[in-house]
Amino acid sequence: MNFLHAQLQPSPLQEGGHSAGSSDHAGVSTAMLEHMGFPYELPALPYALDALSPFISETTLRFHYGKHHKTYIDALNKAIDDTEFEAMPLRALIQATAGKPGQATLFNNAAQAWNHAFYWDSLAPGGAGEPPPMLKQMIDASFGSVEACKQALTEAASTHFGSGWAWLVLDGKKVSVVKTGDADNPLTRGMTPLLAIDVWEHAYYLDYQNRRKDHATGVIEHLINWNFAASNLA
Ligand code: FE
Repeated sequence: MNFLHAQLQPSPLQEGGHSAGSSDHAGVSTAMLEHMGFPYELPALPYALDALSPFISETTLRFHYGKHHKTYIDALNKAIDDTEFEAMPLRALIQATAGKPGQATLFNNAAQAWNHAFYWDSLAPGGAGEPPPMLKQMIDASFGSVEACKQALTEAASTHFGSGWAWLVLDGKKVSVVKTGDADNPLTRGMTPLLAIDVWEHAYYLDYQNRRKDHATGVIEHLINWNFAASNLA
C-alpha cells in the first residue's frame, strides 16, 4: 500500500524518532495513523509481540493488536468508503463524527483505531520509572506526587464500569485522569491525551480474567511510557 505514504505528513513524534516501528510489520507507524486518510492501514506495533510480557502476554497482544485493532481499521475503511468523510485525517474524522447518532459506526471505529495506536505508544518494554522533569513537575503540581497520579490512574482503570479507557490528560494547564466509555476519548472533550489504558476485557481477560486491578497495576507500575506522555505536552 505504498500510495499511503505519499499522503502522509510526518508528525513531530516521528521526526523525533519516537514511534519508529520495531516489529516485523512494515508500513505506517502508530504516530502516522492520525494523519492518514482513507484507506487507513493498521500501523506497526512499536515493539515485538512478546515485549510486554509477563504484564501483557504475547497471546493477548496477538489478539488485541492483530485481531481487535485490525478489525477496527477494516470496519472503518468499510464504513467510510464513498462518504463525505473519506479525505479526512483520522483525528479530524473523530472530532467531526463525535456525538452524531447517524455517524456512530464511523465514530466508534475511527476512535478505536486511533485509541489503540495511542495505547500501543503509551506502553513500553521496561517502561515506568520516573516521568521526565517537566512532566513530573506538572504531575506534582496537579496530584501532589507521581505516586498519587499513578494511584488515580489505577483507580480509574480498575473502577470504570464496563468497556472503556482510562486516560492521563492535559486539561487546560492541569494534568488529570479521566475515564471514557466504549470508544470515546478525550479528543471529543477538548482535552489533550497524554496516556491511554485500555480497560476493555479484551485487553486483559486472557491473562488476568476478572482481575482488572492486577492488570492495571502491572501496566502502570511496569509499562507506562512516561516519555510518550511528555512528548504529547508539546
Ligand atoms: Fe482494545
